Amino acid sequence: MSKKLFIPGPVSVRSDVLAQMTKPIIGHRTEEASHLQRGISKKMQKVFYTKNKILLSTSSGTAMMEGAIKSFTQDRAAIFSNGFFGDLWHELALRNNIEADLYRPKEGEAIDPNMVDKVLSTGRYDLVAITHNETSSGITNPMEELSKVIKNYPDLIWCVDGVSSVGGIKLEVDKLGIDVCIVSSQKCLGLPPGMAIASVSKKAIERARSIECRGYYLDFLELYETIDREDYQYISTPAIPLMYAMDYQLDKILEEGLENRFSRHKELGRLTRNFIKKYFDLYPKEYCASNTVTTIKNTRNIDVDFLNTKLGEMGFQISNGYGYLKDKTFRIGHMADCTIEELQDLLDCLEEIFTSWDYGKVVQLRCS
Ligand code: PLP
Repeated sequence: MSKKLFIPGPVSVRSDVLAQMTKPIIGHRTEEASHLQRGISKKMQKVFYTKNKILLSTSSGTAMMEGAIKSFTQDRAAIFSNGFFGDLWHELALRNNIEADLYRPKEGEAIDPNMVDKVLSTGRYDLVAITHNETSSGITNPMEELSKVIKNYPDLIWCVDGVSSVGGIKLEVDKLGIDVCIVSSQKCLGLPPGMAIASVSKKAIERARSIECRGYYLDFLELYETIDREDYQYISTPAIPLMYAMDYQLDKILEEGLENRFSRHKELGRLTRNFIKKYFDLYPKEYCASNTVTTIKNTRNIDVDFLNTKLGEMGFQISNGYGYLKDKTFRIGHMADCTIEELQDLLDCLEEIFTSWDYGKVVQLRCS
């Protein structure tokens, strides 16, 4: 039985979007390919709220994060993290021999702009990386406040992971002064996995010119100059079927209206939190709880795999915890094209399970 996915990506993709992927393949060096990629870039500029150039990558978001940290760090990167994916920026830097320091707020808290200011005022850094919506801890960071601080350091390149927010939670790239913003196809955009998209500022590109070892496939400067020169065509062969789906789905997103989409996600987040608080505690402090994914403290020590088996019989799937929160939490993803009615169906099933459960037995099941 196919299950409706309430995991924080990949999301269930509508059948009309999937159908786009069966269109005949075109050559990637044709005028049609340029037209397709130009169109996607124009639509993504609206979704990112930017006039900056858009780069498409046949890879997942991690690859573009790696490309960004490598293409834009000259001296040392400051990484602010409240979960696994924030930490990933640090890991990617170290594995590429890039000097970087990792700063974390208190558990369950958003990144504090004052902490960022204090760190940046040391003058040690030329790149700062922050995750907008941390999918492991379910925390959304306060980008407007962070932007006010970061704008005081105009030489810094600011990279933002918008992987699980862009298209679901408002993130205005130009207004905030974000140099590089990255999103993956399989989250709030409601597409299959396999592509990542980034917006990149001219300032970031100027920085890349002074950096010697930027790699090849994910060298942002190479990508930027190639699409300029080749009318939106890329160095290597892109996932054309996915781009058909993307082009189509971006029209649907813009038809829904970005503001309507953000309001729907707010309501999805609010309903999920209000429901789950009857049975468990939220992992993040509520002021910074995400509207695309709810991370729940497993305060009753339930067997999440067992819960998912029961939910699976009812046609749904949720997610266990991730990274260092794997055993302490579980998560409900509510993003992309998920409707209020679909979420309510899941919450009704969860209610049915929770009210009928003998929690003692569930714990025994885990131990036996
Ligand atoms: N950043 C965040 C916030 C994520 O949620 C994820 C994936 O779940 C990633 C980065 C990595 O993205 P991808 O799986 O597309 O490489």
